[in-house]
Amino acid sequence: MAETHSEIAILGAGFSGLAMAIALRRAAPALGLPADGGGVAVFEREPRVGGTWAVNRYPGCACDVPSHLYSLAVAPKADWSRAYAAQPEILRYIEDVARQHGVGPELRLGCGVASARYDAAAGRWRLRSDHGDEHTARVLISAVGGLSRPKLPKIAGIDSFEGPVLHTARWDDAVALEGRRVAVIGTGASAIQLVPPLARVARHLDLYQRTPAWILPRHDGPIAPWVQRAMARWPLLRRLRREALRWSMDARSLAFVHMPWLMRAVELQALRHLRRQVPDLALRRALTPQYRIGCKRILVADDYYPAICQPNVTLRDGGASAIEPHGVRDHDGALHPADVVVLATGFEATKPLPEGVVFGPGERDLARHFGDCPRAYLGTAVAGFPNLFMLVGPNTGIGHSSLLLIIEAQVALVTQLLRWMHDDRLRTVAVRADAEEHYNADLQQRLQRTVWGSGCQSWYLTADGRNPTLWPGSTYGFERMTATLRRSDFTVETGRDG
Ligand code: NAP
Repeated sequence: MAETHSEIAILGAGFSGLAMAIALRRAAPALGLPADGGGVAVFEREPRVGGTWAVNRYPGCACDVPSHLYSLAVAPKADWSRAYAAQPEILRYIEDVARQHGVGPELRLGCGVASARYDAAAGRWRLRSDHGDEHTARVLISAVGGLSRPKLPKIAGIDSFEGPVLHTARWDDAVALEGRRVAVIGTGASAIQLVPPLARVARHLDLYQRTPAWILPRHDGPIAPWVQRAMARWPLLRRLRREALRWSMDARSLAFVHMPWLMRAVELQALRHLRRQVPDLALRRALTPQYRIGCKRILVADDYYPAICQPNVTLRDGGASAIEPHGVRDHDGALHPADVVVLATGFEATKPLPEGVVFGPGERDLARHFGDCPRAYLGTAVAGFPNLFMLVGPNTGIGHSSLLLIIEAQVALVTQLLRWMHDDRLRTVAVRADAEEHYNADLQQRLQRTVWGSGCQSWYLTADGRNPTLWPGSTYGFERMTATLRRSDFTVETGRDG
């Protein structure tokens, strides 16, 4: 089998992997890398770039963060067509960004990494691809995203269903839905986007709801061509729009983190939205959440409630109790026939990298090391795992603003670490265990009184209520924390070869 080598290997060509590859190109001279992307290999399982935006192709898929904030600062876009871009436009944007920045030679598309093992004697990561090829790299950067592994619900009999079973993140366009009886399981961020277009084509749609979500109006709409032109002509306008969005969204972190009681005002707004859109009292009651708004991700939709009110849609409150070859049993045990089952049941958020993939020194499995509650230093470095950096690692998720702001801050931090390695000819860099411990003790302390711990169950939390997923603060706060590299928090080995 062929063996190749690069200075840096990146896992994943979604937003974070590409942002990292772009930063490496921009900083290439300072990092001792060739300017043409040489020295960097980006491994991507899918045949194209885009990450979550390439695989999530379910009908209605869009972003619930405004477009002008959901874009990379290094790759501004003036001509977003809508306030909230849909998946095809975001995917096109990502592909354009890769092209415009020349990211291409470093891409290994359709090439997943089956395992990555640290070879302490050589000071290298040894990667084995899904095809069996070997690759070595001094530094490994995981950019696999937090929400890449679909979570399949443990519903009795699910394997016995005789029709197609789709997960929102594994969509199959070949499965016809027109005129069919469709059962949708789950009512989270993906489901509320999926239900309206499905309801338009399905003969009947049964929506299995376990927990109603809090939903705010979305106020989506096209951005007028003259506004797009003005933003292209005067970049300051676009920057002002972006900053205004960022400030207003970040202001919410105050309530999420420090004053959850303030969220009551937002609940009233959501209840008004529900009242306006759902005239039927019993249906409205079934759709009214019983937990503090913000505890789970706040959803935004203008067309979800109206879709549920359609005569061909039935809300099955209480969720699904079992699945049989030709239908789904509701909470009360009644069987409802279905031709297709759609799982909108989310992701393995605390285990984006499964066991048996990344092994540090002494064959220590990263996923086992993480256990149920992953932790890292600034979500980026893990004690005991030298020359491994993570993007969108533990506690970097952000429910109230754009994750891309967090990603770009992490990319800048990793670039600083790489620069240090290059300048001081370091063989290895690893975060100190006590620095990681101290950082996480402080983090968990800050997480204690947040709205996310106010009593609901969500993918943000472990079974015992710890929060390994979210950043308890603003995007500005994360940027501040990561802006200056504290070298004393790391141990290093000198004497780098090559
Ligand atoms: P999710 O928010 O985790 O929602 C999963 C849904 O499935 C919930 O309603 C959950 O009910 C339900 N469920 C899970 N297991 C079930 C079972 N065994 N029986 C019945 N129902 C079950 O997943 P998601 O909607 O895919 O969204 C995940 C995350 O992806 C979001 O929070 C967001 O961060 C991201 N996302 C973003 C966008 C965007 O526009 N930017 C769009 C889609 C997704 P419970 O609530 O009772 O657990």
